[in-house]
Amino acid sequence: MNKELFFSTIVFLIIALIMAVSFSDAAISQDNTDVVSSSQYSDAVIPDEETVEVQSNISSESNKDTDSNKSYLAIIMDDIGYGKENKYNIFERLYGFKITFSIIPGTYNALKAEETAVNSGFDVMAHLPMQAKGIDNSYEKAIRTDMSHEDLYKRIEEMFSKFKYVKGANNHMGSKATSDKKTMLTLMTYLKKRNMFFVDSLTTSDSVVKEVAGLLEMDYLARDIFLDNQTKPEYIKDQLEKACRIANKKKVAIAICHVRENTINVLESDLQRILDKYDVELINISELYVNKKKFNLVAR
Ligand SMILES: [Zn+2]
Repeated sequence: MNKELFFSTIVFLIIALIMAVSFSDAAISQDNTDVVSSSQYSDAVIPDEETVEVQSNISSESNKDTDSNKSYLAIIMDDIGYGKENKYNIFERLYGFKITFSIIPGTYNALKAEETAVNSGFDVMAHLPMQAKGIDNSYEKAIRTDMSHEDLYKRIEEMFSKFKYVKGANNHMGSKATSDKKTMLTLMTYLKKRNMFFVDSLTTSDSVVKEVAGLLEMDYLARDIFLDNQTKPEYIKDQLEKACRIANKKKVAIAICHVRENTINVLESDLQRILDKYDVELINISELYVNKKKFNLVAR
């Protein structure tokens, strides 16, 4: 063996050794962040293939130009998938507005709505049916608190397997499920592993989402205001103004509305005027997420 070949072989071996060590370190720290303290959440019960599933592309779309002196409003439109999105032609009428559409998995128009929204330049997220308190009016296939960790995990996986582009989720109903720590640990661990966000729609004051976000070192996102709890256009306009005032005060506000006739009408005719009045800019939830430090969304 000549001298040159000998030295390059040695150098190659050293590099290979360094890479092997750092990869095993990375694997270990990855595991540590994913394991929730209780043994009942050990990795043993989580199927291996989970990490190859829905990978969000949030990191590649980071909006580094977000100006920290400005006020931002994120608007989520819930309950997409039942076909009202076609009836009201929302993707055309709201074209150009940064509104995040939240789609209920498994609804008959969910796939088409997702595709159309994304092709029209909108962000999409999953609107997960979750168990409500009181009378058991939740979907049979909702995220329920009486499920075993394994069954719940499978259900969540099934819900997300129906989407291609979603970058996170919020709860549809869910006053019972979002106040249950065990349930939220399973769901939010699942999301964290995929670099997806969770927005608490805040359907109950007993929500444990903030606490669980803190435990998992995830960012905490929660609704500040519902825009259309009442359906009168004047009410919706007032709520939009309120949302902008919250944005002015907190730098960022998260508003949730629904795919309803008057809501679409008001957004189409008044949203830009109201945003201009308060000098507020729309932002996608996924952009908020990548700018989390700027917006102080960290739960810890
Ligand atoms: Zn809903």
